[in-house]
Amino acid sequence: MRIPIMSGNWKMYKTPAETTAFFAKFRPLVEKSSHCEIVICPPFTNLDAAVAAVKGSNIRVGAQNIGWAKEGAFTGEISGPMILAVGASHAIIGHSERRQYFNETDETVLKRTQAALEFGLTPIVCVGELLADRESGHTEAVLAAQFQKGIAGLTEQQFAKIVIAYEPVWAIGTGKTATPEIAADTHRAIRAQVRGKFGKDAADSVRILYGGSVKPDNARILMAQPEIDGVLVGGAALDPVSFASIVNF
Ligand code: PEP
Repeated sequence: MRIPIMSGNWKMYKTPAETTAFFAKFRPLVEKSSHCEIVICPPFTNLDAAVAAVKGSNIRVGAQNIGWAKEGAFTGEISGPMILAVGASHAIIGHSERRQYFNETDETVLKRTQAALEFGLTPIVCVGELLADRESGHTEAVLAAQFQKGIAGLTEQQFAKIVIAYEPVWAIGTGKTATPEIAADTHRAIRAQVRGKFGKDAADSVRILYGGSVKPDNARILMAQPEIDGVLVGGAALDPVSFASIVNF
């Protein structure tokens, strides 16, 4: 039984005051949502406000990235111990926007994932193909390469603690959602990769989230797919009512 994770990625939106205001509205809407885990990932500058606002609730807080070193001369990076110290529990790693604009590679995704695990955070590792990959029939090959160069470098014990987010790049922020069938087929392909490398138990238990223009009106149909173990939501996670309606699909 894989407990769904309904997660939100706020990207570069909201101030600490806006974060507090979001949770004041959002908390009561999900206080009875015991069917899933809820994780919201605000910008680093709002982690403190988010952690304070969710105290005593069923909501967890995550970062949107994590440095691979514990500390050191890495200007602009935030380390696992720093994220942990503020009270967050998760970290998104390898989001397509980081791959596209900040030179994130499968190798650095692996390093960040290892760091998250070393410092006790749950990594939500993103993979996904470009529109050109899908249109040329290369989706599975691209995902296999991301898997092999990235998370396949973990040990079995490490792998057991991660969450995977499948986010087709052509569906992120575009309003184009993968059909539930496309998403489920692709999740099956990712699970097959996991089975090949880490075995059946790992494949059966890893949670694979879908991300890409998830909205209140398509969350239920996506979550009806047994292969989809939750969602990673961008735009629609910025509004408390809209994200609560996704959580309570
Ligand atoms: C995301 O940022 O991970 C995402 C899926 O964005 P959106 O829901 O806006 O497509």
